[in-house]
Amino acid sequence: MSDRLRITGGAVYDPANGVDGDVRDVCVLDGRIVDALPTDAPRLDAHGMVVMPGGIDIHAHIAGSSVNHARRILSDERTADPTAAPALRDAVPRSGTGGTVPSTFTTGYRYAGLGYTTVFDAAVAPVSARDTHAQLDDTPIIDAGFFALMGNDAYLLQQVAAGERDRARDYTAWLLGATGAYAIKIVNPGGVELWKRNIRTVKSIDDTSGVPGATPRAIMETLADAAATLALPHPVHIHCNNLGLPGNVSTTLDSMRALSGRRAHFAHAQFHAYAGGNGKPWASGAKQLIAYINAHDEVSIDVGQVMLGHATTVTADGAVEYLLHASSGRRWVNVDVELETGCGIVPYEYRDAAAVAALQWVVGLELFLLSEDPWRVVLSTDHPNGGAFTSYPELIRLLMDRAYRDDRLKAVNQKLLAGSALADGLAREYTLREIAIITRAGPARQLGLANKGHLGAGADADITIYARDANIAAMFSTPRYVIKAGELVVEEGQLRRAPPSRRLYVRPPYDDAVMRDLSAWFERYATIALANYPVAPPRDAPVPVGAGA
Ligand SMILES: [Zn+2]
Repeated sequence: MSDRLRITGGAVYDPANGVDGDVRDVCVLDGRIVDALPTDAPRLDAHGMVVMPGGIDIHAHIAGSSVNHARRILSDERTADPTAAPALRDAVPRSGTGGTVPSTFTTGYRYAGLGYTTVFDAAVAPVSARDTHAQLDDTPIIDAGFFALMGNDAYLLQQVAAGERDRARDYTAWLLGATGAYAIKIVNPGGVELWKRNIRTVKSIDDTSGVPGATPRAIMETLADAAATLALPHPVHIHCNNLGLPGNVSTTLDSMRALSGRRAHFAHAQFHAYAGGNGKPWASGAKQLIAYINAHDEVSIDVGQVMLGHATTVTADGAVEYLLHASSGRRWVNVDVELETGCGIVPYEYRDAAAVAALQWVVGLELFLLSEDPWRVVLSTDHPNGGAFTSYPELIRLLMDRAYRDDRLKAVNQKLLAGSALADGLAREYTLREIAIITRAGPARQLGLANKGHLGAGADADITIYARDANIAAMFSTPRYVIKAGELVVEEGQLRRAPPSRRLYVRPPYDDAVMRDLSAWFERYATIALANYPVAPPRDAPVPVGAGA
């Protein structure tokens, strides 16, 4: 296609630039948005349609060794959902498999087919970074990056315990650069280390039963400060202790308060927003949690909505997976990633008739519907943990269509819903502007991606065009056109092109003095030589640190 394109006549939703459904042209030149084009530029007629920036997924699991383990144990799902190769004009088309954890090429095709153009894998063991890059190389169209797991890293915990916060920061900077990662991820801080010692739960964020001195609080503080001092584009990305347990909202609030005044993103908040416990039944803790988030600008979350249906739980939080495996009887994978982290996987189904699943579904919707600042509450299902990314159109319908939502609510198990805000009746319906924020502009802002999530001059020309439909899920499941870096990848609802994607990563500076200590550590404990650890730098330039973070 031409390197110039004028999209005419569509209602444009570009909240980052204050555009709310105005009918205006969007001009594309050489893969970027520009203010104007000559009148003879090729046109794409978007009359009656909705134009938004390409979708951005801030938290999903799409590549890396954990995802491959999941693919391996889901042979029945893969057999049930074979995917034929699309009719592409610019690349060798690949067949694959779908299900809740699609194969690499199918992941790229399906995200792009939904109008998503940027995706982050939220949990990669640094030692498996090479594998992750290889998988992302085979995931076309969507620009992608990943967050490096650090919250149970043995070297880092030693530095935290010794009060060596500067060295911890230098190690963090080295690790991000060496692995080609984008941000710091903490999963169950200190808790995976405890799990390796056969202790299943962290009692509080001041639990001292792990590495002495490396409490969950100290780990979170050290890494949040490292992200801030290094001026990373995305702040520390945290999966709190006690995921999925009744009463865990108090742990989540303690974690947020511990980092009060520091920027932090809290992942899949739905899984951390339960009241009850200690002999009391499970209940929604969404009101408490969202009240704190509403009042604290430094906190952002993604929701991690549970969608009723099939899912696959994939996490570094091995202890959680043990509980899920034990309660569901489903097959599972449990991996010790030597010095760095753990990993557990259990296929799962959230059933309408299951009381806890219904509560989880309600808690996620409450977080969305009680949020006062959509810029800090990002849409996610923690794919594939709460449901596959392919369920996003259904989730958007639940947010935009109250009648539909109320009907669905009546069909689920009511046992644990007494006193929940949703059961009491929440009238809110998200607008298209708000959907554009929670799926595009908000995640771009939280990720520090200056050129994404908006349609102003200079932005990457990642654009999705939807034909309006009374059925919101139908509208969002098959965009009429998707443009990625100026190329028309979806035409008339069909995937036609699959250009290679860009890699998003950082390479922050650090004091080289850390390397002497680190090489002694590697010599003594690691199974891989330090010289063999760093990955080849991705072909794209790193995202700059220190600017606008
Ligand atoms: Zn996750």
